[in-house]
Amino acid sequence: MPDAILASGFLPGHDFAQLMSALAGQGYRCIGPTVTDGALVYDTVEGVEDLPVGVHIQQGPGSYRVEFNQGKRVFDWANGPQALKPWLFAPREVLWRAERATGGELHFSQEIPEPVPTAVIGVRACDLAALELQDRHFLEGEYPDACYGARRSQLFLVAVNCSRPAETCFCASTGDGPAARRGYDLVLDELDDGFIIQAGSARGDEVLGLLTLQPVLSQQRSAATQATAQAAGMQRRQLPGRNLRDLLFGNLDHPHWEAVAARCLSCGNCTSVCPTCFCYRELEQPALEGESSQHYREWDSCFTQGHSYIHGFTVRPDTRLRYRQWLTHKLGGWHDQYGRSGCVGCGRCIAWCPVGIDITEEVGAIAASPA
Ligand code: SF4
Ligand code: SF4
Repeated sequence: MPDAILASGFLPGHDFAQLMSALAGQGYRCIGPTVTDGALVYDTVEGVEDLPVGVHIQQGPGSYRVEFNQGKRVFDWANGPQALKPWLFAPREVLWRAERATGGELHFSQEIPEPVPTAVIGVRACDLAALELQDRHFLEGEYPDACYGARRSQLFLVAVNCSRPAETCFCASTGDGPAARRGYDLVLDELDDGFIIQAGSARGDEVLGLLTLQPVLSQQRSAATQATAQAAGMQRRQLPGRNLRDLLFGNLDHPHWEAVAARCLSCGNCTSVCPTCFCYRELEQPALEGESSQHYREWDSCFTQGHSYIHGFTVRPDTRLRYRQWLTHKLGGWHDQYGRSGCVGCGRCIAWCPVGIDITEEVGAIAASPA
């Protein structure tokens, strides 16, 4: 059950524009899924016509295809390559600048973004779970990340419960979907003729109050419950457990790591699309005149050569060690760091891996013949 449900109502499909107008009226820029370059990508949306009405996605290991049907549903798809990650943890950004004053002394200034309030429409349960993990990583502890925090404070989240998972989804097995349980301002269940809309925060309640809603009928509520239950039942993939720490750390020399390495390209696509991966590197970009410098942060991956380079040697020089690092950390070490697995079952790393490596199969192979 959701942690906090405030008001709810039924919004007829032809009135969906009301929601976007209400968000705009509250000062939010709306972003949502758009079909761009053959994939669903978050971008600015100004009206329902910008959203993927009648779009369905076919996904499989190493494949992703947008299909158009005659349907009227707006959210009849599972996910695109992006989660919320790029909107909060920017792929590349300046953290600080250094400038030499005329007297020769150096001045440092921090760069904190000043984002506009942004409403994200169409967030899935797995991505809310990933956001919760990234919040924990970037905002909790002694040194909260100011750039992430500035963007996070401006976010309004409109979640949608999944009724049509992709073939690659396994959020039911990780306990993170297909229904959103917390972390949203509003949540939608899409039915053939409209949406059940519920508030999950005071801000969401305020937006809800601006809409002309009908009471939710009991048959509409049971149709929505049935749709998410069916979505869970349609998922065929699963991890062999929610806590794989002991299994993976107990099998560091399992021959299957070598078998995966023979196929893996060490391209890092999986870590780029993963909504919970947070590794980055930092670099300097000095100005040509030699009087100033910018200090950047950009996404890194445990699959790159530089990621494990320390004082003259690379700790993980080959793909076997890098793939093993990714999985032992994400599915094992995260339990020690964050109290849960780092996988929310979104399936993106399966669809966007160019050679179709499937995390559920690779871990399943180790679980099937442990040391
Ligand atoms: S490991 Fe793969 S399935 Fe799990 S959260 Fe990351 S991208 Fe999604
Ligand atoms: S598992 Fe796939 S996506 Fe990840 S580094 Fe290897 S080839 Fe690239």
